[in-house]
Amino acid sequence: MDKNPNPSSISKGDCAPRLCLDAVELIHRLNLRPIPEVYELLYAYAAGTDEKIAGTINRALGENRPLSKSELNQLLDCKSQSSIKEQQLDKFSCQLSEQVSSASSLVQKAVQSTETLGATLENAEVELADIKDPKTLISIVADLANATKELGRDGAELRMKLNEASDQISKLKEDLEITRADSLTDSLTQTDNREAFDQKIAAEITEAKANGSPLCLCMIDADHFKNFNDTHGHRAGDSALQLIASVLKSAVRDHDIVARYGGEEFAIILTGADLATGLIVAERTRQSLADKKLTKRGTGENLGNITVSIGLAQLSTNDSTDSLVERADSCLYQAKNAGRNCVVTESSIPDQQGDLATRAG
Ligand code: GH3
Ligand code: MG
Ligand code: MG
Repeated sequence: MDKNPNPSSISKGDCAPRLCLDAVELIHRLNLRPIPEVYELLYAYAAGTDEKIAGTINRALGENRPLSKSELNQLLDCKSQSSIKEQQLDKFSCQLSEQVSSASSLVQKAVQSTETLGATLENAEVELADIKDPKTLISIVADLANATKELGRDGAELRMKLNEASDQISKLKEDLEITRADSLTDSLTQTDNREAFDQKIAAEITEAKANGSPLCLCMIDADHFKNFNDTHGHRAGDSALQLIASVLKSAVRDHDIVARYGGEEFAIILTGADLATGLIVAERTRQSLADKKLTKRGTGENLGNITVSIGLAQLSTNDSTDSLVERADSCLYQAKNAGRNCVVTESSIPDQQGDLATRAG
């Protein structure tokens, strides 16, 4: 490894050849195997297209250490999930455009049939003007009957095909809706993912300010989670994250928003709640998780319990998303310092009035 790696020396948003070289250089710096998946990941890092990849890799580079196996696996999982979603969206948009072009060619065909009938009628009008032979009359009438029948057939076929196309388009729309919802859901915990959180908190802040209603944000982080993984394994860690998510969801009202903010950190947006209400909810959530006993799937081995630390902040009129998250995060930091398994609200941070901090018994 390079003795003095500097994350900022890696070029961002550069041209493709430069990005390839950066990716190769990073493979060496981070002491990774030069396989295609790893190369693709580091290319994405060098291109600066993914926040999670950037955060994890910058941390390793900053600490002058190789990327750990679990960090690498998490990033690879994330990367493959997001490219599957992109492929699904591509597939749907291709199918949708095929349906639209098939419907439009049918309409084209119907227009042509109508034009053919129009032309036949015009010819008939001219020929009928000086008709002498009854055979000619019979032949003109037969032409008209054929053209009309053809139009009738084309019209029926067009109606049927358009109905089929419209059914398929509705089905595609439903599939697209499902894929959209998937792309905003964290696959492990089935909570909103970071992207959904970013969208929803911005919307909720705008609404709360417009209505003058209160809003609280809880930032929640699992305690000593690295230790839990190291002791019981990554799979047990994943199950613990699922348990945390389900406890959080059942502790809040339906319209509150529970999201996986990243790694072992969650966020809850409590709409219409002031700090005092938020504290009751946060404390109830913390306690109900601390009361849960974890057992290993299959063996039933007792894994003890998992606790969380919670930072709570209330929206103020001057807040942006960033400033609100920052204040809840600094409360979370205080909760960790206060010994973990506790809730700290912003009013218990020095320089602010009151003391709403609670500690676990
Ligand atoms: P603290 O109490 O200070 O928060 O300590 P901590 O160990 O929880 O914090 P640290 O940031 O050192 O470690 C976080 C751990 O969370 C390390 C990482 O592997 C684990 N983690 C993050 N995401 C996942 C995941 O999806 N599954 C599993 N099993 N572990 C995860
Ligand atoms: Mg933690
Ligand atoms: Mg954390």
